[in-house]
Amino acid sequence: MDWLSRHHASVDCWNKTVVFKPDEETEFAFHGDGLSSPSSILSAITRRMVRKGMQGFLAYVHDVNMEEVRRPLIKELHGLLDERVSFEICESGALLAHFQAKSDLVDRIKVAQMKDEQLCKIRDDLELERAPGFVFHKDAMSSESVKDGCLAWAARDPSGVLSPYKFSRRALGKDDVSLKITHCGVCYADVIWSKNKHGDSRYPLVPGHEIAGIVKEVGSSVSNFKVGDHVGVGTYINSCRECEYCNDKEEVSCEKGSVFTFNGIDADGSITKGGYSSYIIVHERYCFRIPDGYPLASAAPLLCAGITVYNPMMRHKMNQPGKSLGVIGLGGLGHMAVKFGKAFGLKVTVLSTSASKKEEALSVLGADNFVITSDQEQMKALYKSLDFIIDTASGDHPFDPYLSLLKTAGVFVLVGFPSEVKFSPASLNIGMKTVSGSITGGTRVIQEMLDFCAANKIYPGIEVIPIQYINEALERMVKNDVKYRFVIDIENSLK
Ligand SMILES: [Zn+2]
Ligand SMILES: [Zn+2]
Repeated sequence: MDWLSRHHASVDCWNKTVVFKPDEETEFAFHGDGLSSPSSILSAITRRMVRKGMQGFLAYVHDVNMEEVRRPLIKELHGLLDERVSFEICESGALLAHFQAKSDLVDRIKVAQMKDEQLCKIRDDLELERAPGFVFHKDAMSSESVKDGCLAWAARDPSGVLSPYKFSRRALGKDDVSLKITHCGVCYADVIWSKNKHGDSRYPLVPGHEIAGIVKEVGSSVSNFKVGDHVGVGTYINSCRECEYCNDKEEVSCEKGSVFTFNGIDADGSITKGGYSSYIIVHERYCFRIPDGYPLASAAPLLCAGITVYNPMMRHKMNQPGKSLGVIGLGGLGHMAVKFGKAFGLKVTVLSTSASKKEEALSVLGADNFVITSDQEQMKALYKSLDFIIDTASGDHPFDPYLSLLKTAGVFVLVGFPSEVKFSPASLNIGMKTVSGSITGGTRVIQEMLDFCAANKIYPGIEVIPIQYINEALERMVKNDVKYRFVIDIENSLK
């Protein structure tokens, strides 16, 4: 009996179907694309295997960082496997070698590195479906599975160029909400990870963490949402839910680290995929109610740009009418800071490098004052006049000139990511100033911010685009050529 015919079951992770035909045989193959939580599926398989008295299997994990998946997988499997059962984990190249070593069909394998389509080719090449008792990746690329899959646009390498992609999301759990994505905001983070600027990108990478949509399904234990509700998902989709920060609904600061909405590693080992996609499944805790009547397109940018400035403004009590706020940078974040500042009754000064934004800042956004930072006279006139400054600039810039604008005990909050923060101690000590940092916010303050925007009719400035325009939009965003946030019309363009 050759190797292939001894394999009696396979698991198609991509297609989320599990096919078992175990009987007296001892080995079966698992294959998945790594996007559908290999460890959880493997656990389920292993339990069934042990019950059936099977003695070993080959686990194939495709398209993921092997080292990241391998350790939790092995740990989990050791807890489950009984001594009679052995297992082996390999990546695509090793699986191929396994096939080659044990099959008499070696010559027919021409694929060096298996991709999704290539798995199907191997199935066909090896005539696996005709091998006795063997079911291999059946229907994975059929039109039916595509229909049930998640459509998306993904970056494949550090060029950061996005193109159509399809994958599977996890099955709906009892605490999960599944939402049809109608809109997704375009954040600078999408460029950072699409282009692997931090060196930790995992491809294929589906960006997007300003997600708005409509609930299409809820798990049996979900109490806060029902089908048809308008909801949003922000920059993280999981956390430990038991540390002091999670208990305070400050999940963004979770001791074990919150799980980012894309390019993150979820609790089950799967790599998260973001909102440039047709739907997403999240635990209800990380899903937010978008108030009735608030446009979904406008809601999307609130989930990152909005909360990134709202959270520190509330933390540092910048909602005191009559106080003065300086806003550095007038992009996606900065323009929201101006809008929140005006809603809080602050006197808002925009600090910008570009005179071209002056008229819009004053007349459309309602800022009280506009200062060109390169103009010494204008800067001097602002000396020691501001209670608060929010710095949204992501490029490198000096800090001392801005700190000199703060009154005694003034607060400077950094929400951008320059490569370095450097200033004279005197800028801080003299005048007892505070420099603070912040990123997004916990689930409590996110919901509060959404409700505040609806109640006060605060809407971000958006340019709605089809997904097909995304590569150009990312380029324009890097050049600051957008007022003030691109929002992808997922519902009407991702098909
Ligand atoms: Zn963002
Ligand atoms: Zn936690």
